[in-house]
Amino acid sequence: MAWCDSCSSWHAPSALATDGSCPNCGAAVEAEAPEVEERTVGESAPWHFWIVVVALAAYLIWRLIEGVLWVVN
Ligand SMILES: [Zn+2]
Repeated sequence: MAWCDSCSSWHAPSALATDGSCPNCGAAVEAEAPEVEERTVGESAPWHFWIVVVALAAYLIWRLIEGVLWVVN
């Protein structure tokens, strides 16, 4: 959500003009601060996601080695 001082009202990001200004009065609007906090939390949280990715990559590499050995033999 974005706050417009001129209208004293909230606007959805999708409702803003293409240049990010207020759809009602055309004034520059301020983006809500909590959105930034949400993004920083999202960056530090998925450590478990990378464990899954590394495990999957190790499995695929192992299958690749296994496949190469099968071809060689
Ligand atoms: Zn406005």
